[in-house]
Formats: sequence, C-alpha cells, structure tokens
Amino acid sequence: MIITRFAPSPTGFMHVGGVRTAIFAWAFARKHGGRFILRIEDTDKEREVAGSIEHIIESLRWLGITWDEGPDIGGPHGPYLQSQRLETYKRYAQILIERGYAYPDPYTEDELEGFRLLAEAEKRPFLYRDHRPHNPGAWDGTQPLRFRVPEVKRYTWTDLVRGELSAGEEALDDFILIKSDGYPTYNFAHIVDDLEMGVTHIMRGEEFISSTPKFLSLYEALGITPPEMATLPVILGPDGKKKLSKRDGAKDVLDYRREGYAPEAIVNFLALLGWHPEDESEVMSAAELAEKFDISRVQKAGAKFDDVKLAWMNHEHLKRLSDDEFMGRLTILMDERGAEMPRYATRALPLLRERAQTLGNAIESLTGGEFAFFEEATPSKDLLLAGAKADAEAVRKNLTVLIEILDDISERAWSGESVKEQVFPFATEVGRSAVLWPMRVTLSGREKSPDPFTLAALLGKEVTKQRLTKAIELL
Ligand code: GLU
Repeated sequence: MIITRFAPSPTGFMHVGGVRTAIFAWAFARKHGGRFILRIEDTDKEREVAGSIEHIIESLRWLGITWDEGPDIGGPHGPYLQSQRLETYKRYAQILIERGYAYPDPYTEDELEGFRLLAEAEKRPFLYRDHRPHNPGAWDGTQPLRFRVPEVKRYTWTDLVRGELSAGEEALDDFILIKSDGYPTYNFAHIVDDLEMGVTHIMRGEEFISSTPKFLSLYEALGITPPEMATLPVILGPDGKKKLSKRDGAKDVLDYRREGYAPEAIVNFLALLGWHPEDESEVMSAAELAEKFDISRVQKAGAKFDDVKLAWMNHEHLKRLSDDEFMGRLTILMDERGAEMPRYATRALPLLRERAQTLGNAIESLTGGEFAFFEEATPSKDLLLAGAKADAEAVRKNLTVLIEILDDISERAWSGESVKEQVFPFATEVGRSAVLWPMRVTLSGREKSPDPFTLAALLGKEVTKQRLTKAIELL
C-alpha cells in the first residue's frame, strides 16, 4: 500500500510550489490506489501565521485535491496537527535517550556562541558534536534535547528522481530533537510521524537534500527503514534561470481563483512542472492525470513557470465546461466582485467562451460594455464614416443594397457564414471598407467589435435590418 503525505507548515498562504508538491504526492497515491494524508507541521510557533491552516485546507479543496486522513476529517493515525502530538514525540525521545542516542543540551546561548567563534578563529566548521558534554545528566524537559549521532560516516542513498546521492561526515551533527519550548523540530517530528502514519514515499523540494544524512542517521538510531524519497525539481521563473519569485507568479494560489482561473487548469499546469505523461497529453483532468502519473518520469532539471502557457491551459479547461457550468462559475465570481450580470450575458456566451482566457477576462468584457450591442447600438454619423473611405451618400446607397441582399436570406438560413457568403461579393465589388465598416459599426455601435457577420448572426435578421435602416436615416 502506497501512503504519501503533504505536510505543509502553516506559515503563510499556499503558493504554487507547495501546491505542486501536494499534487505530486496526491497523484502518486491515487495512481496506486494508496492513501494520501494531510498533516500540518505546526511546531515552529514563532513562524506560524494565524489563519494559514484554514487557508491550506481551502486551497486544496478548491483545487479538488482530496485527502484520506487529515486534521479536518481525522483518521486512524490522528491527530494530524503536530502540535497535538507532543506526547508521541516524547515517547520516541525516551527511546532515544534509553539507547544513548539523545542527551540534554547543557549550554547557554553565550557558550554556544563561544564555540562558534572559536571554530571560526581556527578556520574549521562549527560542529556541535565536537562539544558533546561528558556528563549531560537527565533530561528534565526544559533544555533542548539533542540527537547523539551514533556513527559519523558517509551516507549514500537513492532518490527516486535524482538517483544516487551521497554526503560526507560534515553533513552530520547532533541536531535538536526537542526544543526548550517542548516542541519537536521538523527534523525529528516528520520522521516520527512518517513512521507512525505508515508513509511509504516522501516528496519534497531540494532544500531537504542537505539534511538527508541527518535524517538517515536518526532512522538508523531508531532502527527503522526510511521511506522512499523523491526530490521534486525546482520551479524556475520565466527566464528559466532563477527560482520562481513572488513577482513572477509564486503567489497565493487563491489569487488564481480570484482572477477567474479554473482549478482544473491550475492542477493540470502545476502537474506538468517537472513531469509529463508518456503519451505527451497536455490538457488533462485531475483524474486523467492521476491515472497517467508515473514517478519515474519526474525530471531532475528545473521546470519553467510560464504564465502564458497557464493562460492557454485555462482557456482549454474553460472550453471543456458545459455552458451551465461556465455561467455558474461566472456568476459566483461576479457576485464576489460585486458586479452585476448584464441581461444579455447568456446571449454573449458563445463569444465570451471563445475569447476569455479567464473568467476575470469575461467579467471585464461584460462590465466594460464590450457586448452591450446586444441591447442597443447608436453609432454617430462620424463613426459610421470613420473607416468607410467613402462619403455619406455612397455609404447610404451601399447600406440600402445591403438590406436588400440580407432580405433574400431566409430566417432559417441566417448564419454568420450565409451572411458572409451573400455580402462579400457585393462588398468586394463596391469597396469593402465602404460596406463592411459601416455594417459592423452599425450593428455594434462601437469602433472595436466582432466582425460584421458574427454580429449579424448573433443579433438575428430582424434586429440587423432595423439597425441598418436607422443608420440609413442618420446618413
Ligand atoms: N513542513 C515542511 C515544509 O513545509 C514539509 C517538508 C516535508 O514534506 O517533509 O516545508
């Protein structure tokens, strides 16, 4: 049974890097019919930001990443907040103490600083294990509890993505297991929890590679086999060189919701940052993605965050929604923004769906009046002639003929194509600008709008003729 976990620290909002880790761990578990656990690593009380846990849960829910065990739903290995598991860490601490692998740290801050300065003066790295106290005494819970590295040696291990990795003795030191405030360190707590929760595979960023020898040494001291480890590739900014910064898009994932991105697109896009399926498919639902997920295809090299591709992918996912679903989501976002849905929104739907890359774009088009031509169009005489390259008399004559041509198209045959087919030869004969410009401006009332054939099709034969008649009167 494959068991993976996503173990965020509640130190702020969820950004795309964290979400990508969650998606990989989730997809791997789903692919293998395993379990996916959400665990909150809240042991650093100084860095904790109020509201982060709710924010993490809301972000994952919005994205459709579901967990089988977690702080909100419980499960057989709970609690899932590390701050509620202090007894468990103490239990493991006792085991280590009994085996001689842990001891209380007797030094004051100043003493430690003295050791550090001495190492610096002697031009050697500061290692706590060079200063192990000879007679540390019993741990009363008020001093930090340190791990006593059992054997100082080189470690070599296999990372599922990076292959064989190795680090020498300098990477090992007597790190803190439990701080003087009673909370465990990440280094200790995650190992205990992964063991207790039966985690088989750990996925995380490359910042943890340098600490892995310490973890391996602790696994050895506890006499347990470490889970498999997979280091995910770093996410690079658009230049493909530097790590993705906040400015390039490493923002709160819920900002994407506010901008009108589809959660399906975010999941799809992030899953492809460092992985792609064998069949090269690009646009996938979360279920398809989990079905195709293959950890051996995760790349080592950094993956570039390309927001042009994200916008494209969002458009693709919006296209996959039914009209009802699209309108439903649009309405929710409109309400959130306090904007009002114009009455003609349903009629504008085909255009909106064709153009908008995000629901936010669709809302801007609607509230900006881009499709107000459904209700009315009152172009001025100047606008009618602005791009016509002909005088009022010539344009008036052209529009008169145009009405006759359109009249010959039956209501049933009325479409963008049929209108174009009939109008185009005439326009070509007398000058395209002198027909198509005034036709388009008449129907839309605006300088910029969809093409005249699309407009005629959307407005229908009657309205098209009425508007053309009014333009003739104006001219
Ligand atoms: N709590 C760690 C973090 O948020 C998780 C690292 C891990 O997955 O082991 O960075």
